[in-house]
Amino acid sequence: MAHVVNSPDRLSIPVAGTEDTFPAHRIFCVGRNYADHAREMGHDPDREDPFFFEKHTSALMFAPAPDGANLPYPQQTSDVHHEIELVVGLSKGGNDISIENAYDHVWGYAVGLDMTRRDLQGVAKKAGRPWEVGKSFDHAGPIGMFHPIAEAGHMSEGHIRLDVNGETRQDGNLNELIWKIPEIINYLSKLFTLQAGDLIMTGTPAGVGPVKKGDVLEGHVEGLSSIRVTVT
Ligand code: MN
Repeated sequence: MAHVVNSPDRLSIPVAGTEDTFPAHRIFCVGRNYADHAREMGHDPDREDPFFFEKHTSALMFAPAPDGANLPYPQQTSDVHHEIELVVGLSKGGNDISIENAYDHVWGYAVGLDMTRRDLQGVAKKAGRPWEVGKSFDHAGPIGMFHPIAEAGHMSEGHIRLDVNGETRQDGNLNELIWKIPEIINYLSKLFTLQAGDLIMTGTPAGVGPVKKGDVLEGHVEGLSSIRVTVT
């Protein structure tokens, strides 16, 4: 038996300081998970149930600082936004994972960007259509090196920041997450059978905005390896 076509392999993300990799499976993203970002998008940040969308794994692009990676300006858009996010990688999956046990399912963390075609997302929102065209496109998921929870800890607080051309645009703290990591895992595991290798993008603080060709984006989360993306 042989495969009848050669489909691409999924990205395996290098683990900092090792020869090992984290094999990415699916990418679940949490919407509006920082109050100040919910407000800037015109929503009430009251704690309504979390909501999720998926970004396809083919959107991942390994972009570790200092060199990073190039992001060719995407097609069919004139309003691409940056969203800096903490990414959680799962070591094992399951259904109905309790909040108390959730951290047992976390392998580690990386810095990521949830790049967004805001104009296409806006059209989709208005029409009640899915968000894929706004969220799941080529190079829409730059990500940095993985760090194990054994080193990084539970990441319930810590500075999260995005600079564009050396100027800080997004500046927040992980302790501002509306839905905390264990709660996100608990909630997601009631909707899907989670699996090892799944990634969760945990949401972005305020300050999202457009990028243009030539911009250099540098993303940082305290305690993790930074990322760098050049828009080309
Ligand atoms: Mn996001």
